[in-house]
Amino acid sequence: MSEIIKLENVSFCYDNICAIEPTNLSIEKNQCIALVGPNGGGKSTILKLLTGLLPPKTGKISIDKDEKISYIAQGINFDKNFPITVERVVLLGLLESKIKPIKRFSKEDKAIVEKTLKQLNILNLKKRRINQLSGGQLKRVLIARAIASKSTILILDEPEDGLDKKSSAELYQELEKLKKDKTILIVSHRIENILKIADKVIYINKTLKELKEPQESMQLLNLGENIKWLKQYKTTNLCKMQ
Ligand code: ADP
Ligand code: MG
Repeated sequence: MSEIIKLENVSFCYDNICAIEPTNLSIEKNQCIALVGPNGGGKSTILKLLTGLLPPKTGKISIDKDEKISYIAQGINFDKNFPITVERVVLLGLLESKIKPIKRFSKEDKAIVEKTLKQLNILNLKKRRINQLSGGQLKRVLIARAIASKSTILILDEPEDGLDKKSSAELYQELEKLKKDKTILIVSHRIENILKIADKVIYINKTLKELKEPQESMQLLNLGENIKWLKQYKTTNLCKMQ
């Protein structure tokens, strides 16, 4: 497998708060990476560094030039009163990075949107304006947009926020299907869901640590001994740590 993302000696501080200490990471194409760890551990910061929203204080981030990133940030932070329909939001995700002054969407584009909305069980919302959606519905629309876009790397920061348990499980089923042709980085507290799809689990608390054993993830995440499913989890999916 080929390496498409590489962090070398990368660190980041918000003024006087050092969120990420010098760290190295290598991600191969079509891996699904789960990022776990305590609140304030630096998970969102790492994702923002990867997307270029924040510049590293030290070190270097290399991303293969053929890769295109879709990013769903933690929390939803845009003007929901912007008059745009669900269909349009997802269609806009199909635009190439170079925006042309006039873009007509093709039948194929519309079919992709239709298929993705159907996949996520939100086809009935297609003509709704986004200010008529619940927080959970809006999150699904953003996920549909990320799925429909031609991106090769999907970065999701706590995507199940605002989704009920059933919708969250459905979302993970969709991500499982996407694994074969997208690289996925996902931050989540729903450990039982992400461990099912992750090829690698990385624990972040200022530094990055690849988890080796289910036992170790239990200790680090402070989940206690009663989480039996984690003990049964395939150890091969929790890869080696330096
Ligand atoms: P996580 O996503 O793991 O909860 P974050 O990456 O959001 O953690 O935060 C890492 C650290 O950086 C925390 O100590 C947090 O308080 C701090 N931090 C995050 N965003 C900002 C900001 N905009 N300004 C200052 N400090 C921040
Ligand atoms: Mg966060």
